[in-house]
Amino acid sequence: MSTLPPVPATRLLGKSGIVVSSMAWGMWRFAGRSVAEARTLVEAALDSGITLLDTADIYGFDGKGGFGNAEALLGQVFAEAPALRDRMVLATKGGIMPPLPYDSSPAYLDTALDASLKRMGVHRVDLYQIHRPDILTHPHEIAKFAEKAYALGKIGAFGVSNMTVAQTAALLAFMPRDLPLSTIQPELSPLCLDAITDGTLDLALQHNLAPMAWSPLGGGRIASPTDARATAVAAALDAVAQTHGVSRTAATYSWIMAHPARPIPIVGSQQVDRIREAADAYKVTWTREDWYKVLVASRGEKLP
Ligand code: NAP
Repeated sequence: MSTLPPVPATRLLGKSGIVVSSMAWGMWRFAGRSVAEARTLVEAALDSGITLLDTADIYGFDGKGGFGNAEALLGQVFAEAPALRDRMVLATKGGIMPPLPYDSSPAYLDTALDASLKRMGVHRVDLYQIHRPDILTHPHEIAKFAEKAYALGKIGAFGVSNMTVAQTAALLAFMPRDLPLSTIQPELSPLCLDAITDGTLDLALQHNLAPMAWSPLGGGRIASPTDARATAVAAALDAVAQTHGVSRTAATYSWIMAHPARPIPIVGSQQVDRIREAADAYKVTWTREDWYKVLVASRGEKLP
């Protein structure tokens, strides 16, 4: 039975030259807690070997603190413990501004990036990402924004999220030579296979883009399945998890990383034990047979 190669714990962030852990930790659900609790979570991620931390200016928008709240909370953590900043590759996103909804014009992104830096109390982010595609901005304009921000030392690398294959390809054509597109960030989990089937991960392989997989547990549905499809996927994951003595969630992260594009699952949990446990994903190796069993369970029909 053919076994897929184990996944190293670190990888390059596309062509940026930046080394990151093969798993990331995300702050979508971070806002609305105390600075002490927030610091504990950040430290749990870093102490468990996760070096890539993903936030966005809009995170927290739905809560009491509103737009910018997750970044502001991280800024408070940095103010209390400045050394934490140097232990991480810090990624944020901009380009969603309710009620617009999307704006990727250079004028807007210039101000959005400056506001993100200010909220977090940092001089630069290591990775800046366009959160969602703005149909009304020419990709050349996006590339010009990124080039300027890079030249000014405000960003170390540039990426996009939720773009179609064609939108990403168009942007690739306009990126400057000294700042290649480094990352993409599609939704990807055993319950969301689009990036696997629509050419997104193939584009990542072709252009050496690091794919960051958002909602790797389907927003928690893999941990707590509520329908037949999720239950079938969970059962296929459990079979492998039990063999390796790890949790279903660790098996899920490793299933995602087993793809040759080496997608980086963004762990979304805001619980210390669950963040720590994510590293168990590196203990899992997949046979082709078992990997495809999860895929088939998700598709709900056999492969041709
Ligand atoms: P997820 O891992 O799919 O879901 C995390 C949720 O599952 C949390 O509410 C967590 O609750 C829950 N959960 C239940 N049981 C769990 C278990 N055993 N282990 C771990 N989690 C469990 O990820 P996500 O939070 O939806 O997204 C992850 C990250 O992706 C975000 O933080 C963000 O950085 C990124 N993201 C990006 C976009 C985009 O448009 N680019 C969109 C969405 C998300 P507890 O906290 O209680 O553990």
